[in-house]
Amino acid sequence: TGLSLRQCSIISISRALGFQRMLSTARLQGKVALITGAASGIGKETAAKFISNGARVVLTDIQQQLGQQIAKDLGPNASFLTCDVSREADISNAVDYAVSKYGRLDIMFNNAGVACQTPPSIVDLDLSTFDRVMSINVRGAVAGIKHASRIMIPNNSGSILCTASVTGLLGGMSQHTYSVSKFAIAGLVKTLASELCQHGVRINCISPFAMPTPLVMEELLRVYQGAGAKKIEQILHDSGALRGTNCEPSDIANAAVFLASDESKYVSGHNLVVDGGFTAFKTLGF
Ligand code: NAD
Repeated sequence: TGLSLRQCSIISISRALGFQRMLSTARLQGKVALITGAASGIGKETAAKFISNGARVVLTDIQQQLGQQIAKDLGPNASFLTCDVSREADISNAVDYAVSKYGRLDIMFNNAGVACQTPPSIVDLDLSTFDRVMSINVRGAVAGIKHASRIMIPNNSGSILCTASVTGLLGGMSQHTYSVSKFAIAGLVKTLASELCQHGVRINCISPFAMPTPLVMEELLRVYQGAGAKKIEQILHDSGALRGTNCEPSDIANAAVFLASDESKYVSGHNLVVDGGFTAFKTLGF
């Protein structure tokens, strides 16, 4: 075949060690996933990665037209359903849709989230803003976990993921309301791992560093008035995480593939921090 004896030996050893399987691109073959907030940023990127790894995916979002177009572009293993995560009925319906369309639900990614403008002082906080953020970032995730669990628990299998944030790990990194919502996600995952593991269901979250998706850009463009998108990206780049590279939605999508796949079958209650080392050596925000 033109291969040297040494090359043949390396291939045989790799096969014996199962590297062939690890290198396979179909790490989610046969699995069905539901993703919230999938019309943009992390959710959109993760949907594409899940599909390229063999999964069939229900993308959900409040942005109907955009979501439908993205699902169409992703091909026959993607479908879209409008779902506002602050409405429990929408989540319940999306879970039932995934099961009726594809016959199962293996992966639930509670990713939808919003940022908000809050005043620097708690004294001036409008609690209706707080309620709105909690209803999406926290209540939405709780509803997602609840309805995915009603399918996964009887099957004794499943992987639930949530998007937390580095702002839910350290104080002083973001506006308090958004931060509180992400601390809540980290707490939820820790708390629920114990119940769900009794039923073969895993639950984990991912804590990304800041990246220039619409959620963050909107806020930073407001704070750094006059700065363009390029300048904001530079500010994020210079903010103290891994030099030479920015955090990108694909970094989070890669982490999600691992946590969704059977490669992480013994990982639950974990908060996978994807921040270029930022929280390892920073105690104050930028
Ligand atoms: P994004 O704005 O690109 O995407 C968020 C998506 O959520 C949008 O498509 C939006 O339409 C959708 N959404 C908003 N409200 C919704 C609702 N009520 N129901 C359903 N969908 C809704 O932002 P992103 O950065 O991809 O954010 C995804 C998640 O990542 C969020 O939970 C966010 O808090 C978290 N996060 C983002 C960053 C960052 O730097 N971008 C860092 C840490 C954590």
